[in-house]
Amino acid sequence: MMMIKTLVATVAVAATLSAQAKKAPAQHAHSHGEAKINIGIEGNGGTVEIEAAADPIIGFEHKPKNAAEQKKVDAALANLKARVAQAVVIPASYGCAFTPKEVHFEVEGSHAEVHAEFAIKCAKPLKGATITFGLSKLYPEIESVKVQAVSDAGQTGATIKKDAGSVKIS
Ligand SMILES: [Zn+2]
Repeated sequence: MMMIKTLVATVAVAATLSAQAKKAPAQHAHSHGEAKINIGIEGNGGTVEIEAAADPIIGFEHKPKNAAEQKKVDAALANLKARVAQAVVIPASYGCAFTPKEVHFEVEGSHAEVHAEFAIKCAKPLKGATITFGLSKLYPEIESVKVQAVSDAGQTGATIKKDAGSVKIS
């Protein structure tokens, strides 16, 4: 009995180690499957910030080597600006509009990130608004999004996996 237990434990440890080894090559300072969305609300407006690895959004993580790659970066960022309302979905009844503040591609060593900041302005206060997400639909490699929402009334957050779930503004 003792021996079987030891064997089971050894197999479990080996499985864990091999899972870690498989994961290792994709790991830099960031994870390509995880993104962050920070929402700051004040009355009927605020800011939305999206932070993600560049790979799922642009397709590579190095400084553009030629005009074609630069074009790819520009097109991807323009696409994100144009579709942000599909990534962070505020019910139409609030009448919100997004304005890009700062959207850029940042290379750091062997990896890169996309940082996108938008101002939002709505027709009415966002208190009580239920926000849903579509970042994984736009960028299928992004599997999980850590959402933080802060308003003058409080703070809330959720980990949104494959766009499932929502965050209610307090
Ligand atoms: Zn990376």
